[in-house]
Amino acid sequence: MAKMTIDNKLGVNRFNVDEENCHIQVDKQHADHDEVNRVVRICPAGLYKADDDGVRFDYLGCLECGTCRILSQDKVVSQWDFPQGSFGVNFRKS
Ligand code: SF4
Repeated sequence: MAKMTIDNKLGVNRFNVDEENCHIQVDKQHADHDEVNRVVRICPAGLYKADDDGVRFDYLGCLECGTCRILSQDKVVSQWDFPQGSFGVNFRKS
């Protein structure tokens, strides 16, 4: 059996995305680059990116782990909630 990579494991999850409501609000112009880089590095799904225009974030693929909330609430993360009922990640075993 082939070795499973992180991408393989994440790929079996299913997402029911609430396209009307983003459950995480991000300060896309946050001025502290060290803080931004910490969030970019810590998200296990790789949803935060940083470039010259600021922070880019896409909640599609969020694992709802809360790591960014714990790390950066009221800094890069301005608001964090779970998705509304029936939306969000559905974890699956391969
Ligand atoms: S809750 Fe977890 S997976 Fe979702 S954006 Fe934050 S760190 Fe990434």
